[in-house]
Amino acid sequence: MHQGEACWIESLAGGWLFLLGLGNQRGSLIAVGETTESLLAQSRLVVEQVSGLGASACEFPAYPRILEEVCGKGWLACGTGAMAFDPLCGDGTGTALREAILASAAIRGISRGLNPSDVRAHYSLRLRAGFLRHLEQCVTFYREARSAPGGTWKSPFWSKELNGAEAGLTAAARRVTAWWTSNSSRSSRHRLPGTARFGLMVYQLTYNSPNVW
Ligand SMILES: Cc1cc2nc3c(=O)[nH]c(=O)nc-3n(C[C@H](O)[C@H](O)[C@H](O)COP(=O)(O)OP(=O)(O)OC[C@H]3O[C@@H](n4cnc5c(N)ncnc54)[C@H](O)[C@@H]3O)c2cc1C
Repeated sequence: MHQGEACWIESLAGGWLFLLGLGNQRGSLIAVGETTESLLAQSRLVVEQVSGLGASACEFPAYPRILEEVCGKGWLACGTGAMAFDPLCGDGTGTALREAILASAAIRGISRGLNPSDVRAHYSLRLRAGFLRHLEQCVTFYREARSAPGGTWKSPFWSKELNGAEAGLTAAARRVTAWWTSNSSRSSRHRLPGTARFGLMVYQLTYNSPNVW
């Protein structure tokens, strides 16, 4: 593969960079943790691939989050409308597709006579189980990054991300227990273990996404 078509990812003391080649000497650069300029100043790998920056396309928070309720009477949320993931994990598209398939099955089940409350409980549990797995994956990633050779683990950014992910998992475990206690009488046909009810997650990344080259 030509270098300009490859993806590059680089861990830095102040965050991380993700460079996606778009062909024709153009690419998209995602900067997480600090400004693009600040991270490029720390970079050894990605900076070598960039000859110039265009205007920043957008900036937005990118912390994992899920709606307090993902469905209710007459509605189901799925995809970005239901939850968002840490961009480090690449979980978004696959999960959005799976949620859409599950949402279709839930709607069909209700239209064919299944108890709507049980179906909604099942749907909610499946989404929360997926979110919980995502948080576990985040903790694994951030632990690995913090212990990787090169010294970035000492930086406040990686420590803060790991602490946030671990705090989120602790909160998730409490929610699982609470949900399980209050829903233990539901039909097991629609019940899955290992889920949680969340508010917003506790840590935040910032994206700058300028076009480059
Ligand atoms: C910068 C960035 C990088 C990402 N990288 C990855 C990655 O590497 N791997 C990964 O798995 N995921 C990644 N994601 C996440 C992934 O893009 C999303 O999780 C996924 O696209 C969500 O799908 P969706 O259908 O819910 O939302 P979207 O893809 O946002 O689609 C929503 C669609 O609905 C349309 N729409 C909105 N409102 C209306 C309306 N009222 N009527 C009609 N249409 C409407 C919009 O125009 C849009 O086309 C990334 C996201 C971003 C922002």
